[in-house]
Amino acid sequence: MSWLDDPDDLDDDFEDFDESSIRSRPNPKGNRPRTKRRPAHEDAEIGRVLGVDRGRYAVLLGEDTADERTITSTRARELRKTPIVTGDRARVVGDTSGAEGTLGRIVGIVERSSLLRRSADDTDQVERVIVANADQMLVVVAAADPEPRERLVDRYLVAALDAGIRPLLVVTKTDLADPTAFLAHFEGLDLRVFTSARDVMPVDEIGAALVGHSTVFVGHSGVGKSTLVNALVPSAGRATGHVNQVTGRGRHTSSSTVSLRYRGDGGSGWVIDTPGVRSFGLGHVDPANILAAFTELAEIAKRCPRGCTHLADAPDCALIEAAESGELGETGRARLDSLQRLLQTFADKAEHPFGR
Ligand code: GDP
Ligand code: ZN
Repeated sequence: MSWLDDPDDLDDDFEDFDESSIRSRPNPKGNRPRTKRRPAHEDAEIGRVLGVDRGRYAVLLGEDTADERTITSTRARELRKTPIVTGDRARVVGDTSGAEGTLGRIVGIVERSSLLRRSADDTDQVERVIVANADQMLVVVAAADPEPRERLVDRYLVAALDAGIRPLLVVTKTDLADPTAFLAHFEGLDLRVFTSARDVMPVDEIGAALVGHSTVFVGHSGVGKSTLVNALVPSAGRATGHVNQVTGRGRHTSSSTVSLRYRGDGGSGWVIDTPGVRSFGLGHVDPANILAAFTELAEIAKRCPRGCTHLADAPDCALIEAAESGELGETGRARLDSLQRLLQTFADKAEHPFGR
């Protein structure tokens, strides 16, 4: 039985995770913590961290080879202040056989290509690292039950774009409501949108988008994320549909962030499911990263005054002038609206740092 097969081995509460209690210093420069180089461990094997449970790491070694195995690892003392999270590429030494009762030891983490942090909240002002090396974010939102909120999706989009992660959107429960009006908010974005209904889940289409990528799935409780994960990864066994009798709200019963392998006709990819993560931190967001995702607008914005916010009231903003002169055209104006909305999401967080 593998580490992931035993649900009793998982913590009930994400907060209990050893790793989530490792504080990551706010890092205004962004997403690239220094790589730990430990030449003494040249013999280390590099593997994929699949999940973390109370200081023990499930690490996949020999990925896609005949020798593929999942081992359990501790981490070296010198890494005790380094958060190690799902998606990390870990350098492992010790017993890496994966045999029953053996332990490897993580001695380093390969430099990350991306990093998502969970937002701080009222009781915890420190942002915590939760997913490394994802290159896509699938935002799951329901057409109804719960009602979709565009601002919430905007917050996910900002977190993704800031981290250099490509966002995708799936609207579930389209059997309950027509998502057209909701989706109109996102027309100005380069955003691939899937729709899903109870009996018509676009498993092949979403699956094809997962191949060759590491995709973090995010969404509020009750939107049907676990249902979707189970349809894509039949062995996942993510708990679904548990409704809290007191609040009437869905309850997160799948309790840990894990990497799951999608296998389709076109190849494989990684699904990183993040239960219990309401939103990602925007505290460290650099507005320039948001602008950069709008390539053609970023080009025009080079003519803006220094420090321009590009928001509706920004004086002499080249983007606003280009919209007024017709240079942007209709599509460009819609994209500017979207950009401004995302920048506003970021600006608002100064007023409501933990707003949802
Ligand atoms: P999660 O909290 O986001 O993981 O949501 P779940 O996957 O547990 O789903 C919450 C509830 O919504 C469950 O009762 C599901 O059966 C239901 N559900 C999921 N997808 C759909 C859908 O497309 N249509 C409808 N009507 N219900 C759905
Ligand atoms: Zn501007």
